[in-house]
Amino acid sequence: MYACCRVSHTLFTFSARACKVPRATVGRARNEFPAGIKRVLANRVGTRCSNSDCQRTTSGPNSDPEKAVNIGVAAHITAAAAGGPRYDAGLSPEERRSAENGIWLCQTCAKLIDNDPERYHSELLWEWKRGAEERALATSRHTVLVKTLVN
Ligand SMILES: [Zn+2]
Repeated sequence: MYACCRVSHTLFTFSARACKVPRATVGRARNEFPAGIKRVLANRVGTRCSNSDCQRTTSGPNSDPEKAVNIGVAAHITAAAAGGPRYDAGLSPEERRSAENGIWLCQTCAKLIDNDPERYHSELLWEWKRGAEERALATSRHTVLVKTLVN
């Protein structure tokens, strides 16, 4: 099994035969997010999709009490590799895999932005990210305020 490099995230794995990218390029020259960065991206938006028109929650319980279900994706705002959507040759590999260059989305929205990068350009994704973080901050402040008023 190989991580598919047709998409800018690694939630799914496909067999090398299913992946349309030549096997030699799989796993090379891509600047994937480390697991810690993915967690930070998810938590900064309360594990909700950052698309302002979606905002669906991306985590929930599994039937196994020891597990959770995740349908969220740490997507690249500018592509992880040359030729990918919204690729910015001016970024260093470190910048490309930094939290700054990531946005937390549900699987549907992650697919959408990579299939139509002209419509879903970097500036729009920055706007979604900023809005999602502001909503998460407002929600956490509201929760603290309600708890304070109740107690
Ligand atoms: Zn979404």
